[in-house]
Amino acid sequence: MADVKELRCVIGDCRFAVDEVSYTCPVHGEVATLDILYDYPALRAKLDRDAISASGLSNSWRYRALMPLSPESKVPPLAVGWTPLYETPRIAKNLGLRRVWVKDDGANPTGSLKDRASALVLARALEKGFKTVSAASTGNAAAALAGLGASLPEVEIVIFVPASAPPAKIAQLLVYGAEVLLVEGSYDDAFDLCLQTCAAQGWYSRNTGVNPFTTEGKKTVALEIAEQLNWLAPDVVAVSVGDGSIISGVHKGFRDLLALGWIDRMPRLLGVQAAGSAVLAKACERGIAAPDIGRQRVSTIADSIASELPRDRAKALRAVRDTGGRFVTVADAAIQAAIPEFAQLSGVFAEPAAAAAYAGVKQAAKAGIIHGDESVCIVSTGNGLKDVARASDSVRGGIRVAPNRAAVESALRSAGRL
Ligand SMILES: *Cc1c(COP(=O)(O)O)cnc(C)c1O
Ligand SMILES: [Zn+2]
Repeated sequence: MADVKELRCVIGDCRFAVDEVSYTCPVHGEVATLDILYDYPALRAKLDRDAISASGLSNSWRYRALMPLSPESKVPPLAVGWTPLYETPRIAKNLGLRRVWVKDDGANPTGSLKDRASALVLARALEKGFKTVSAASTGNAAAALAGLGASLPEVEIVIFVPASAPPAKIAQLLVYGAEVLLVEGSYDDAFDLCLQTCAAQGWYSRNTGVNPFTTEGKKTVALEIAEQLNWLAPDVVAVSVGDGSIISGVHKGFRDLLALGWIDRMPRLLGVQAAGSAVLAKACERGIAAPDIGRQRVSTIADSIASELPRDRAKALRAVRDTGGRFVTVADAAIQAAIPEFAQLSGVFAEPAAAAAYAGVKQAAKAGIIHGDESVCIVSTGNGLKDVARASDSVRGGIRVAPNRAAVESALRSAGRL
């Protein structure tokens, strides 16, 4: 752990050694998640961004020198990260923006950006000799932990998931062989139960935000975006937000790069929330500080961004505030419409929560929050195959034909194709 300097509390000025505290700040409690900070002058003197580009490693471990792991630690074998970044000129043109890219994190091994966090947390668990790792999740974090856990014989995975999670997500957990507890309650109920059980059983908790390694894993998406753009940060990076851990990770990645002098400015972060699950957007608008945010009832079709009490609320508010960014909220109808629209303009099939980021950019461009001369990266956080039921609701079509050529031709003629 050569170059980790300290864990720093996001609420107060508390500092800890990296092995001193496992989860949140013991002084300020659960709202006070921790940042893992490095000895940046030492890293700056030692590391070379061109050497990273030349490493040829096509996964997130290309940034291992910027991760809190011992050099000899074992990591999961699945290829997490180094996902494609596509330029999408049709989206740019339609939205009146200078340039738009899509970072396709649905291309990760279990289909979402959550793999980045689970990979690092599991490496940490192996380092510390934990036999069981557990998480509560609306689905994707759990799938990431179950899938990456299945690639390691050393650990068992226990998942707490709301019984209402999409069936495909639950099936994915069971296929990977995790022990799955289907909690008859909300995601937040599952989360609290998981935390209590980890504490009682001595299991390692991968829970979002609470475990500072989750942010460090997620930051690799920002490192990749910068490197894939030749170390230029876009003007705006758009991310959908539930617990606020991804946007915090994106912020941390760009902060690390700025501290290393590898990029020369910070992008503005656009946090996109579902209108029915907008705890952070509302807090930001009303100037409510993270410790004063209370749990609220939420409802959205984008299950991955439904969060009654965003676990990484302090870091997420900071990410938007410190970068001069904004939160926007998008209605479920706009999210639903965004699924086919985004896919047809980019070729990327996104689950509802991921398509929400595109819907948010569209709205922000219309409202003048993003300007016509600016460049934007949309992070597509999860694969559309994760929630086929919602995708089906978003489209119509398909022409039934009898199995003969005459029927095919007549159908194509009515469709205007002949
Ligand atoms: C988890 C998740 C999000 C939101 O991330 P938070 O850290 O909870 O804000 C967005 N999209 C997808 C697909 C996710 O799995
Ligand atoms: Zn503190």
